[in-house]
Amino acid sequence: MKQEELFNYITSRDCNKVWQSACEIIKHSHNKEFIKYFIPHLSTIIEKTNKLEMGGFFAPNQRFVDFAIKIIEFHKNKENCSCFLYIEKFHLSNSLLKKEIKYDGFNPKKEVEKENIIFITTCYINKKWVDYYLVECCKCKKRFKVEEREGHYMFWNWNEVE
Ligand SMILES: [Zn+2]
Repeated sequence: MKQEELFNYITSRDCNKVWQSACEIIKHSHNKEFIKYFIPHLSTIIEKTNKLEMGGFFAPNQRFVDFAIKIIEFHKNKENCSCFLYIEKFHLSNSLLKKEIKYDGFNPKKEVEKENIIFITTCYINKKWVDYYLVECCKCKKRFKVEEREGHYMFWNWNEVE
């Protein structure tokens, strides 16, 4: 999908289209050239996605929308390397929870395919299940420990390695 269509989707107030568009924006989170298009539309996107009932039984789908907005804000305001997005915390806009969350959908295998990171090592539990990956950002060489977990869905917890 092109950016213009994604913009139409995310501002459509049709929850399914909003979700599709947000996921697509997240897929391109490290691609400043791609995200740039949305920067002048940021306030419209925030306004049009306000107070949608995004649903999500085991985990709020609102996190996709909020994180997509976070990504656009990041490329607008920050000079940091985009790997900061792996660990950036944000509030869910529709939630009463005061706690900040991290986006948990960054699959390191996909990030390697996109040439954003490289694998350094993989640690297993009982030689079977992945405990965590040690990865490195291709741009700034920062290293991250990425825990892989499976509950109702697969998710990953990224933390910077000192
Ligand atoms: Zn980096």
